[in-house]
Amino acid sequence: MALIVQKYGGTSVGSIERIENVANKVMAFRERGDDVVVVLSAMSGETNRLIDLAKAIQNPPDPRELDMLVATGEQVTIALLAMALKKRGQDARSYTGGQVRILTDSAFNKARILEIDEGNIRRDLAAGRVVVVAGFQGVDEQGNITTLGRGGSDTTGVALAAALKADECQIYTDVDGVYTTDPRVVPEARRLDRITFEEMLEMASLGSKVLQIRSVEFAGKYNVPLRVLSSMQDGPGTLITYEDEGMEDALISGIAFNRDEAQITVQGVPDQPGVAYRILGPIGEANIEVDMIVQNTSADGSTTDFTFTVHRNDYDKALALLKKHAGAMGAREVKGDSKIVKLSLVGVGMRSHAGIASTMFEALAKEGINIRMISTSEIKISVVVDEKYLELGVRALHSAFKLDQAPAA
Ligand code: ADP
Ligand code: ASP
Ligand code: MG
Repeated sequence: MALIVQKYGGTSVGSIERIENVANKVMAFRERGDDVVVVLSAMSGETNRLIDLAKAIQNPPDPRELDMLVATGEQVTIALLAMALKKRGQDARSYTGGQVRILTDSAFNKARILEIDEGNIRRDLAAGRVVVVAGFQGVDEQGNITTLGRGGSDTTGVALAAALKADECQIYTDVDGVYTTDPRVVPEARRLDRITFEEMLEMASLGSKVLQIRSVEFAGKYNVPLRVLSSMQDGPGTLITYEDEGMEDALISGIAFNRDEAQITVQGVPDQPGVAYRILGPIGEANIEVDMIVQNTSADGSTTDFTFTVHRNDYDKALALLKKHAGAMGAREVKGDSKIVKLSLVGVGMRSHAGIASTMFEALAKEGINIRMISTSEIKISVVVDEKYLELGVRALHSAFKLDQAPAA
């Protein structure tokens, strides 16, 4: 007998049939004698629909009211699942984030969980009930409804598993695990039996939306056994774990890509101390996060070109800001390009192997893909390329590193 937290994503609860399917899966665990806490997303498409309604009235929408609105999506699915379980003779109770008391800070639309009161849940479990919790939402000290950012139900699941010291947190989705890359882009992508927290965190940060970044951070920090599985087919899924002897001996675990970035270049700025500060100061003050940065000095050393990337949502704002400051910075020109993507190779094996970057650059060169920016860290290499090369680039890298084949033991 185990205590299991199961999170089902939007597609897995996207229709009445799918909700009945979730109820059957939960029943199977109950029949084995397990205690089950279920965390649900809204039906697929529902959160987007609600955001569009808000934007039709006010754009950008008021953050507090937006949370009030989007949190309703999850309230629908939890009630329906609780009914489906009761219909099967299984006592169940649904709770909103506020009812559980998932306490968060007051950063509307991207709140962080501060504390979870697991008392109600424990009492229900002891009484033989299945507890069904609305994902993605919490409540702040003042009683306002907050939400945790897109994909935030993953984080609710992991945080509840940590608070309850659950034996496993199972993330059920529309793929049967974590793949070497998004199987929608590369059909030959291969399911990984295991991946380390560190690699999964990089993959999520670099654009693989199969798990929300914060859920992986949380699982790593509190050592929550985390598994990604399909709600539609049986199988072992992917276990996210600490590095151990039994891990696949792969150089590269996966390829992530991010379509959400845009590039800005400030050209011909006098090369003097303080250039980077003068360019990025106003960007930081406007609360815009910068990702990659490259600076090149002209042949005669008198001027410099400064290029960096920001989230696409911040692109217009950042570009307008720098155009305004161009004169004061002594820049010749400020240019931008929002049609770029970032491709990244991730793997703990990179630490101990040379030559990975050159294999990566060779594979891209063979396809005629020009690299605009490069950045590396201990376990990842990222490049920025034109948006039109996303699929081609990911496929070329996937085959150059033979990710479709299981690594030799
Ligand atoms: P849910 O609604 O269940 O939370 P998501 O859409 O958030 O599901 O996440 C699942 C999707 O993540 C998959 O359908 C897949 O297209 C995408 N994905 C991106 N990268 C990967 C990867 N490396 N492995 C598996 N799925 C990935
Ligand atoms: N429904 C929310 C979203 O679409 C949260 C989630 O599904 O995890 O982002
Ligand atoms: Mg998701």
